Amino acid sequence: MDRISIIVPCYNEEQVLLLFYEETEKAVREIETAECEFIFIDDGSRDHTPEILESLVYKDKRCKYLSFSRNFGKEAAMYAGLQHACGEYCVFMDADLQHPPSLLKEMYDVLKNEGYDCCAGFREDREGEGKVRNFLSRNFYKVINRLCDLNMSDGAGDFRMMNRAMADSILEFKEYNRYMKGIFSFIGFDTKWIPFHNVERAAGDSKWNLKSLFKYALDGIYSFSTAPVRLAGSTGILLLILGIILGITAAVRTIFFGYALNGVMLIILLILILNGIQLLFISVLGQYISKDYMETKKRPLYIIKKEKGF
Ligand code: UDP
Ligand code: MG
Repeated sequence: MDRISIIVPCYNEEQVLLLFYEETEKAVREIETAECEFIFIDDGSRDHTPEILESLVYKDKRCKYLSFSRNFGKEAAMYAGLQHACGEYCVFMDADLQHPPSLLKEMYDVLKNEGYDCCAGFREDREGEGKVRNFLSRNFYKVINRLCDLNMSDGAGDFRMMNRAMADSILEFKEYNRYMKGIFSFIGFDTKWIPFHNVERAAGDSKWNLKSLFKYALDGIYSFSTAPVRLAGSTGILLLILGIILGITAAVRTIFFGYALNGVMLIILLILILNGIQLLFISVLGQYISKDYMETKKRPLYIIKKEKGF
């Protein structure tokens, strides 16, 4: 019998937790060839989430839970959950029933029978979400994919079931600033996408506000890309070129056409050139620092999917 570890980060989810458990438990009962374990991570909740989890553990021995000493964020919770999961298959699910449990069986079947390493839910629409957030999210993925050489899409979230090999390789990413969507995309493996409709969370409020989403977006860019450093360099070069063009124009005007040197022009020119040079060298410095930054992450150099004959 296979085991599926269902990893559920929970932060102040007292309103939906029991409902989530009931629905999901019902859904996994349909999978005949696998049993499940629930790994709940209480991410420093300030409501009755820990008590509810405690009662679940008491009631159902397939349930386990960890409780963080404070709110460490969903990324940390997912990592902790994965570390404690012992199933051949692991799946991340939100506690708010936005990830339909009815897909679990299909995901399991895909992994089991179709040879994929991962089966991921793909949110087709963003119904039930604010227009501003919707707009920002869509454009964020355009930017980050360009900057980071990754291929992430707006609809791809954390709702995915993966096999042991993939779960283990995620655990090798021990970096502090974690960005799971980036890691999923970075490690490769064969993924099958299955679409689902977005629904509003079953109860309670989203734990994200515009500020935390913005921070999350920047975390994503900074943990996978050093492009912002290069941006300083290209801005520097641009200023420098502008300064040089201006300088040549001023020189030609003075030497060949006898115009007097314009003092204001001279100052602008100097500012452009000096700032350009400064930015350029800041970016050179930044390149060294960012190389070092990437080294300190100690990411695996490669990820092996299968080994034979050793
Ligand atoms: N979550 C968490 N720690 C946090 C924020 C969120 O563990 O600091 C959990 C939350 O309990 C939920 C999941 O992450 O199970 C997704 O959160 P939410 O539904 O608020 O995000 P959204 O669906 O709005 O993106
Ligand atoms: Mg949600």
